[in-house]
Amino acid sequence: MRWIMRGSVPVGVSGYAKQFTQGWVNHFKKGIGGRPNDHYWTQYRKDLGKHTHYICWYCERQCDCKAESGGLSPTVDHFRPISRCPSLAYDWNNWILSCRRCNEQNKQNKWPDTGYVDPCADQITERPENYFSYDEISGRIEPEDGLPPDELKKANSTIENLGLNKLDVWYYRFDWMRGFVADVMELPHSERRNFVSFILEQPSEFAGSAITVVQRLQRDGII
Ligand SMILES: [Zn+2]
Repeated sequence: MRWIMRGSVPVGVSGYAKQFTQGWVNHFKKGIGGRPNDHYWTQYRKDLGKHTHYICWYCERQCDCKAESGGLSPTVDHFRPISRCPSLAYDWNNWILSCRRCNEQNKQNKWPDTGYVDPCADQITERPENYFSYDEISGRIEPEDGLPPDELKKANSTIENLGLNKLDVWYYRFDWMRGFVADVMELPHSERRNFVSFILEQPSEFAGSAITVVQRLQRDGII
C-alpha cells in the first residue's frame, strides 16, 4: 500500500450528496425506510482510478477495467462502510478505488475498533509507509517495527481484513519484488537511481513494496 492523493471533489458529487445521503442515514441510523438503491458513486470510479491507472489502492494489483465482474474489476469502496457511517455515503473523501476482490470479497462491511490504514491519509504520520514494511525474502507485508499498540493493531487489521498476505496478492507481490530487484541489478550502477525514481513516481503495481526494497538497496550501497 502506498499513499495516494485523491484530488479535489469532482463536479456533481455535492448534488448527489444533498439528494441521497439522508436516505442512507434514515435507513441505517434511524431504521426508517428500506435500503436505498442509489449507487451514484460508481460514476466516479474514473475520477478515482485515473490517479493510479486503476491500480487498487489497497492491494496494489492492476484492476481489469474491461471486467464488470470478477475479482479484479474496479469498484468504489467506502473506506468507512455505509452501514456504519451512512452520512459518508456520498463523501468524496470516503471513496477508495478498490478491486472487487478487496472491497467485496475481503473488507466487506468490517470496521475494526482502530479503523484501517488510510491510503489517502492527510497527515504524513498516518500514511501507509509509516505502518507497513515488506519482507524481501517472503514478499509478505508486515507492520512497521516499533509501532505503538493501537497503530500495530490498525496495521494488522488492515493486512488481515483486506487479505493482503493471501496467495492471490502475496504471490504477485513476491514475484514483482524479485523482478524489481533483478531489473535494478541488471543496470549499470550510474543508471540505477534514475530507474528507481522512475518506478517510485509512476503508478505501478506493488510500488508500496518498492519503498522497502529501495531502502535496503541504499543500505547495501547497490544504488
Ligand atoms: Zn485490491
